Amino acid sequence: QAAIELQGLHKTYKGGQPALAGVDLSVPRGAFHGLLGPNGAGKSTLIGLMTGLVRLEAGSVRLFGHDPERDPVAARRRVGLVPQEVNFNSFEPINEIIETQAMYYGLPRRRARERTRVVLERVGLEERTTRKPWGLSGGMKRRLMLARALVHEPELLILDEPTAGLDVEARRDTWALLQELNTAGTTILMSSHYLEEMRDLCQTVAVLKEGRLIANDTPERLFGAD
Ligand code: ADP
Ligand code: ADP
Repeated sequence: QAAIELQGLHKTYKGGQPALAGVDLSVPRGAFHGLLGPNGAGKSTLIGLMTGLVRLEAGSVRLFGHDPERDPVAARRRVGLVPQEVNFNSFEPINEIIETQAMYYGLPRRRARERTRVVLERVGLEERTTRKPWGLSGGMKRRLMLARALVHEPELLILDEPTAGLDVEARRDTWALLQELNTAGTTILMSSHYLEEMRDLCQTVAVLKEGRLIANDTPERLFGAD
């Protein structure tokens, strides 16, 4: 059973061109899969449809066999999402942001506390747990988003342009962490418009253009060996 199984996805926002015009995609468990495409190609829409943030118009989404529309709780328990925009409350203490999310994912309070400590240490934020994130650098904010997405030990991690706007060092940190997670068995779907990032990290890459998947292959075959 695949981690992600998408069939015939269509989405047109009111008054616009089709954002997705018939996308099929299957991502096996354990994969590190990239979603490459220029701005406006439909990457965020695809991620939104998988996570229930955008309403499906036609087609089907299965995450580990679950339909996230009919069974949102079961799907969410196995999925961690790092959205493109920072969307935590900057005036809430860091540990509370993570704990709240853990309980939203169904963890009991004690376990939520324990996991919060573990993930904040994992991303290097353990010194700041009771602080509020408003003064954090862009890179640190991203780490907080990652910690939040990892708190319930998801089997599938979906990231929408996780390194956009980061400096080289922060990007390298993110890459290393993602690689560790994948090696430990987490399936990863990551969108990006950086080609080098895809080439170095992903085992397979789907290329989206104007709402259609125009390729889905290994980086070597897509971009050539260097
Ligand atoms: P990407 O993530 O690849 O940049 P998006 O999924 O954000 O692509 O956008 C695909 C298309 O859908 C674009 O033409 C964009 O303008 C449009 N779009 C995205 N979100 C909305 C929205 N909420 N309302 C209307 N149009 C949207
Ligand atoms: P918002 O607070 O942006 O309206 P939600 O309350 O829907 O968003 O979700 C809060 C956070 O929970 C999201 O930013 C995301 O990190 C996570 N999340 C939302 N939907 C899912 C999902 N289907 N699977 C995993 N995580 C999710």
